[in-house]
Amino acid sequence: MLQAKTEYGKLVTPALFTKQEIRTLKQHNKFFCPACQSPVIVKAGSKITPHFAHSARGNCPAQEGGEGAYHEKGKLLLYQWLKHQRLNVRLEEYLPEISQRPDILIRLKAKTIAIEYQCAKIPPAEIVDRTRGYEKAGITPIWIIGVNQFNRRKRNEIKIDAFHLHLIHQFSADFPLTLYFFCPDTLRFITFQDLYLSSNRQAIGNMTIQKLNAMDFTDLFHKTFLPRQKLFQNWLTAKRSLRMRPSKRAFGRELAWQQWLYVNSLHRDSLPSPVYLPVTGQFRMKTQPWDWQSRLCVEVIGHMSPNETFSVKRCQHLFRRHIRPTHAFPLIKSSVNPIYEYLQLLEELQVIRETSPNHFTKENPLKFYKHIEAALEGDKLLMIELMKQNTGMFPK
Ligand SMILES: [Zn+2]
Repeated sequence: MLQAKTEYGKLVTPALFTKQEIRTLKQHNKFFCPACQSPVIVKAGSKITPHFAHSARGNCPAQEGGEGAYHEKGKLLLYQWLKHQRLNVRLEEYLPEISQRPDILIRLKAKTIAIEYQCAKIPPAEIVDRTRGYEKAGITPIWIIGVNQFNRRKRNEIKIDAFHLHLIHQFSADFPLTLYFFCPDTLRFITFQDLYLSSNRQAIGNMTIQKLNAMDFTDLFHKTFLPRQKLFQNWLTAKRSLRMRPSKRAFGRELAWQQWLYVNSLHRDSLPSPVYLPVTGQFRMKTQPWDWQSRLCVEVIGHMSPNETFSVKRCQHLFRRHIRPTHAFPLIKSSVNPIYEYLQLLEELQVIRETSPNHFTKENPLKFYKHIEAALEGDKLLMIELMKQNTGMFPK
């Protein structure tokens, strides 16, 4: 932690002092944790941001998870950046009513915002708990991830896992899904926005990189969108690699999907092009997009004759074990349904049509391929078609 109380109750932040001042401070004071009141000691050296540590391992409700120097440095920089904008900011203020201590607390006229700078991976359940805690106290949390957890694959593509997934923000239903990253060494702030999960480990989105000192606090709430062309270019590459990926290497869920294909006399080469399309709600699915989308296309639509009707409820039931509840994502303020979203896309492609609310009728058969070449060509044509359509489902 960057701050502690002296025996007289004054909060001090040694990181804001000179070396000489810190020496004097240490000579004349004892320090205590603002949360648990137990003694803490100053840690200062040439390579670290001066901070405090509990002298004994105790039951402090605000004990750090050993995130280290990188975290302390970033927290201080973010604090100074906000302070410089004349905002009412507090560093590491302990909130006894929820037993939480956000890295930074910003009190605006109409709302209070907690900034959590998260550099170490923590379990999703902890992210959910802390987020709910803030909400209970009427505080909006913003989680900024350390760039040490940022893994760029391509220009508009990053690697992600369950940790990132639970840190996706959406402040309102019309706000694009957003991840924030910050590097205390280069002062770069990265916003990864309007993201689509192309698998459980990969996200395609619009990346904005800015220097922190060229940014305002309000820039966090800017909306940027991934140009549709970029989305479908990246998606086509992902589709191609799925088709081409050697099936020998599959294991776990991937193997289960492959066996399901086999049982249905199918192969990844033969799947219709509308299988594996981008939907914003994929974060709610436990299974890979190609997996549940191929099951929907084959088990529901594939077995139907034209003009036969099915309900959204039936699809929901089919995937009841694949979908996570919306309350598992308290940072996301819309109840987007990936299955319904996908059905709407299939409607755009004239495979099905919504004939009455939540009921779809099959319009045209899905085309299964005989050769990989035809499949790849079909995928390409479909992506071009989606790029051209102005459906409002995807940004321009
Ligand atoms: Zn403590």
